[in-house]
Amino acid sequence: MERTTYYALRNTQPAIHITQYAVRILGVRVDALTYDDLLEQIAGFIAEGAPHQICTVNPEFVMEARRNPAFRAVLEQADLCLADGVGLLWAARRQGRRLPERVTGSDGVPLIAARAAEAGWRLYLLGAAPGVAEQAAEILTGRYPGLQVVGAYVGSPTDADAPEIIARVRQAKPDVLFVAYGAPSQDLWIARRRDTLGVPVMMGVGGAFDHITGMRRRAPAWVQRLNLEWLFRLITQPWRWRRQLALPWFVWAVMREKEVAGIGY
Ligand code: UDP
Repeated sequence: MERTTYYALRNTQPAIHITQYAVRILGVRVDALTYDDLLEQIAGFIAEGAPHQICTVNPEFVMEARRNPAFRAVLEQADLCLADGVGLLWAARRQGRRLPERVTGSDGVPLIAARAAEAGWRLYLLGAAPGVAEQAAEILTGRYPGLQVVGAYVGSPTDADAPEIIARVRQAKPDVLFVAYGAPSQDLWIARRRDTLGVPVMMGVGGAFDHITGMRRRAPAWVQRLNLEWLFRLITQPWRWRRQLALPWFVWAVMREKEVAGIGY
């Protein structure tokens, strides 16, 4: 049986990055961060310039990682794994560890855009249904004066589309690339191209553009506060039931994992 381990003080570059720790949930690393920490990390990544990948981990990710070694490897080598799911906060608490807050792609994108407008970061929006990335770009630039969205393109996660996307992104030279192809495709896509794209921050954002444009309704704040966003999604997107079966399996697997392997370093 896989044991849960956790460790503190990841080997980051102290000159730029804040000190952080992470929790391991069913073998998947989840970084303990707030939204403010995320923005600081992104500023550090951009200053550094090398490619960095950010993943928004939820219980579906964790269960997918358990059966998909390629996805597991991507999460393992990602620079940040955000706790995008209340189930992860619960699983951490069972280990006596605390993840400070849920940090979602859907709330993260507008926050990053707001900081980008102040800091001069250039954003690129890739993915979602045709026209959605462009519409999200318009909404964000309207909301945050001075924001530079240097590209919005639908593309697709297929290999056939990759050369065209890479050419467009390289030409636009963004600081932050948001990729909305759903998990695990978006994260696998980024990992395969991270060294070719020439972008310091690449983040898989799932349905974030759909939420910004109102294409898909986000759970109201009170539903989120009750930790019931998963139920809202099940009701409003019933076709996801098969994917959401991951949730009870996740709970079961976490409950079954009685022992904590001990504190690392
Ligand atoms: N998506 C896409 N191309 C694909 C598959 C998905 O552009 O081949 C987009 C989809 O339109 C949506 C986003 O990926 O905007 C997120 O999809 P999903 O519902 O899987 O993400 P989640 O809601 O789990 O974050």
